Amino acid sequence: MAKTLVWFRQDLRVRDNPALYHAAKAGDVIGIYIEAKLQRQQHNESPAKVGLIYDSLLELRKELNNLNIPLHIRTCDYFGDQLDLIQQMVKDNNITALYFNNEYPINELERDEQLVKWLEDQGVEVHRYDGDLALEPGLVKNKQGDPYKVFTPYKKSWIEKHKTAPVEPLLPPESQSCYINKQETENFSAEYRDDLWAAGETAAHKQLKKFLSDVEDYRDKRDIPSVAGTSFLSPYLAIGAISSKQCIHALLEHYEGDEAKLYGDTWFSELVWREFYRQILIDKPALTKHKAFNQDAKEVWTDNRDAFEAWKDGKTGFPIIDAAMRQLNQTGWMHNRLRMNTAMFLNKLCLVDWRWGEKYFMQTLIDGDFASNNGGWQWCSSTGADGAPYFRIMSPLSQSKRFDPEGEFIRKLVPELKGLDKKSIHNPTTEQRKDLGYPEPVIDYKESRKRALELLS
Ligand SMILES: Cc1cc2nc3c(=O)[nH]c(=O)nc-3n(C[C@H](O)[C@H](O)[C@H](O)COP(=O)(O)OP(=O)(O)OC[C@H]3O[C@@H](n4cnc5c(N)ncnc54)[C@H](O)[C@@H]3O)c2cc1C
Repeated sequence: MAKTLVWFRQDLRVRDNPALYHAAKAGDVIGIYIEAKLQRQQHNESPAKVGLIYDSLLELRKELNNLNIPLHIRTCDYFGDQLDLIQQMVKDNNITALYFNNEYPINELERDEQLVKWLEDQGVEVHRYDGDLALEPGLVKNKQGDPYKVFTPYKKSWIEKHKTAPVEPLLPPESQSCYINKQETENFSAEYRDDLWAAGETAAHKQLKKFLSDVEDYRDKRDIPSVAGTSFLSPYLAIGAISSKQCIHALLEHYEGDEAKLYGDTWFSELVWREFYRQILIDKPALTKHKAFNQDAKEVWTDNRDAFEAWKDGKTGFPIIDAAMRQLNQTGWMHNRLRMNTAMFLNKLCLVDWRWGEKYFMQTLIDGDFASNNGGWQWCSSTGADGAPYFRIMSPLSQSKRFDPEGEFIRKLVPELKGLDKKSIHNPTTEQRKDLGYPEPVIDYKESRKRALELLS
C-alpha cells in the first residue's frame, strides 16, 4: 500500500478537499500542517487569523481521526523550514507521494517549486490541485486567450464555463486502515473573537446553512452595517474551512437546481469577485511585491502620518469611519461597504498610500486574504484591475446617512455619540464634539475631495 502525505495549508477541511480526497484513494494518508510563524508575520497576517487557524486545526484533527487519519501540527519560522520538515517527514515515513492544494502568492509558489524539485529528485510523486477556486485557474479567458481585466465580462464567461464544469463538491475520503499511534502538536494558538467565529469546518457549514435560509434578503440587507445581512463566511473561506465551490453548490441546491436563479443571485456574484481577484493574482504574481495593477495610475500619496494614526484608532472625527475602524479593531472583521468607505477615506481624502491601509487591514482582519484585500484596496484607490474611476470618492457623510440612517451602527461602535439624535450623529457640531470628547474632523472633506480630484485627474 502506498503511503501518502497530505500537506494542509489554506484548506482546513475534509470535505471538498481534492488533495486529501485523491491521496486517500491512492494509499494510507498522514496529514501535516506547519505554521511558519515568522513568515506569517512578514506577510502581515493577523493574530486573529492565526487563532482561528489553530482552533480549526484541532477541529480538523477530530474529523480526520474519525477516518483514522493522523494530523501532525508543527511550527517553524520560515517557509524554508517548512520544506525541511516535509523532507524529514517524507524520509522518516517512507512516503511515496505528496499531495497538496495550490496557493498562489509568489513566496508560496517559489517554495512549492523548490519542494517539487526535491521530491522529484527523490523519486517521490507530487500531486497538486486547485481546491481554493470553484473553477480551475486559467479556464476563464477572453477571445484572444488573455485573462480578463474587467469583472463583468469575466463573470459572464465564468458562468459559461461553470455550466459545463463539474460542480459537485468532493466527498470526504473513506476511512483509512492506518493506525494512529502518535500525532505531534506544537501549540501556536492566539486570541481572536471565538464568540463570533466558532472554529472549524462544521461551524462554517452551520453558518452557511443559517445564511442561506435568508439569502433572498441579501440584496437588500448587504449594504446596511447595523444588520447581519451578509454571510460572515469570509474567515472560513480565507482558511479553507469551507470552499467557494461548496458555497456555490449549496446556493444551487437552495434554488433546487435552477441555474438561472443561481447565476442571477447577488451573493453568487460576490463569490465570483473572490475568484476574479484570485485569477488576477495568478496572472500577475508581482502584485505580491506591492505593485499597482495599473502601472499608469497616478500615485500621489503624501506622508500624512497623523491622519493614518487617527484612521487606525477610529478617531478621525468622521463617525461612520470611526465606527468602521473600531469594528475592525474590536472584532477583526469589517462590513464590506465600510471597507470601501474607510479605504477611500484614507487613500483619496487623506492621500495616504493604499499600501499602508492594505497592510493595516491584513494585520487586523481575521479574514485577511492577500488576493481579496489587495484587490479591494486597488479597486478603491483606482490603481487596480477594474478599479473604481479616479473621481469616485465616497463621501463619509452621505454614505453614513444613506446606509446607517438611524445612526444605529455608529451608536454601537462609537458609544460617546450614542445620545445624539439621528441627524447630528452623522456629523456632530463643534460644541457636541467638545462636550462628548469626540475629535474634530482630521480633514476638511470638501477641500480634500477637490485636492484629490485635481491630483488624480
Ligand atoms: C478595501 C477592501 C479590503 C478587503 N479585504 C478582504 C480580505 O482581506 N479578505 C476577504 O475575504 N475579503 C476582503 N474584502 C472583500 C469583502 O469586504 C469581504 O469579503 C466581505 O466583507 C466579507 O464578509 P462576508 O463573508 O459576510 O461577505 P458576503 O457578502 O457574505 O460575501 C460572501 C463571500 O464572497 C467573497 N467576497 C465578497 N465580497 C468580495 C469582494 N469585494 N472581493 C472579493 N471577495 C468578496 C468573500 O469570500 C465573502 O466571504 C475586502 C474589500 C475591500 C473593499
